[in-house]
Amino acid sequence: MTALSAKLQAVRRRIADACQVAGRDPASVRLLAVSKTFPAEAVRELAAAGQAAFGENYAQEGAAKVAALESLGLEWHFIGPLQSNKTRTIANHFSWVHSLEREKIADRLSEQRDAHLPPLNVCIQVNVSGEASKSGVAPEAVLPLARHVETLPRLRLRGLMAIPEPSEDAAVLRARFAQVRRLREQLADAGLALDTLSMGMSADLEAAIAEGATLVRVGSALFGVRPAPLPAN
Ligand SMILES: *Cc1c(COP(=O)(O)O)cnc(C)c1O
Repeated sequence: MTALSAKLQAVRRRIADACQVAGRDPASVRLLAVSKTFPAEAVRELAAAGQAAFGENYAQEGAAKVAALESLGLEWHFIGPLQSNKTRTIANHFSWVHSLEREKIADRLSEQRDAHLPPLNVCIQVNVSGEASKSGVAPEAVLPLARHVETLPRLRLRGLMAIPEPSEDAAVLRARFAQVRRLREQLADAGLALDTLSMGMSADLEAAIAEGATLVRVGSALFGVRPAPLPAN
């Protein structure tokens, strides 16, 4: 067994244990391997161990890996900050975007998604840590943005994504993740049924799964400590 496949087994075990504690089916939680800053060869090795979905934060770096590994048929998710001058690259190299927070960006992604590709799956990033975090839309702004995304022909609204401020206190983390879960329930009440809650990372995936995460985004627990991003990003 390679080092990476051992890490993959360990993360899968953590997910299965968290599901058992929460009384959930382990098949209800997908693992997204966050490969930002790691080379295509590391992705190839993890893919050989059975991992199919990978997340990237930087448009150029991600697009280069997508192109280099095209023959493997992997599923690529863009999870980083969205800049309007990168939307074309993102719209056409990835099948998911988790970090949507602006109507204008949604419009561009929909316009720029190639006609021969299926609609781009999107999650709206929600800010559940208040002033402490700049990323994501305020909870009360999620419904209007969701309604807008629903009008765009080349996007398919799938769910919500959140990155709560780190905390040592499991109860604090649970409360943040519970806010996201309740937001999804409110959207369902408003007639918008979403199937994805993208929340939980290496340090807090157990708390996220306890509150209903359907996809956890895990980087360092799989690939190790990240090198600093390239200046080109
Ligand atoms: C880097 C990153 C992750 C992975 O974080 P780890 O703590 O290394 O698991 C998950 N989600 C987003 C949005 C990230 O930027």
